[in-house]
Amino acid sequence: MHTNKAGEGECFFHTGRPAVTRCKQCGKPLCSDCRLVTEDGLFCGDKCAQTAGVFVRRSHDLEEKRARRRRGIPAGLIRFIIFLIIIAVVYKLGRQLIDRGFLEKLLQMIKKPA
Ligand SMILES: [Zn+2]
Ligand SMILES: [Zn+2]
Repeated sequence: MHTNKAGEGECFFHTGRPAVTRCKQCGKPLCSDCRLVTEDGLFCGDKCAQTAGVFVRRSHDLEEKRARRRRGIPAGLIRFIIFLIIIAVVYKLGRQLIDRGFLEKLLQMIKKPA
């Protein structure tokens, strides 16, 4: 009596051999000879291991960047950005005041107090 269901219990590559695990990437059932053991898990072959390996590395990079952002930005960068904004606003206001002759008026007021 054959009770094997397709894709379950039987190695994807060997008909009749019992699967002991599944590919971490594509989920194919694998026997003990077909599984590829890596530090990231079990896979059916190099292609799946590479795909998963790249994904794992990318997610690690993202986590690192996120962690760095959490620690790094509040300390220095935000203060630096605020400093730049203040400089830009002061510069723009100063230019507008000079254009309107405000400084000349101010100097005249200082020279001749009403
Ligand atoms: Zn696979
Ligand atoms: Zn197999």
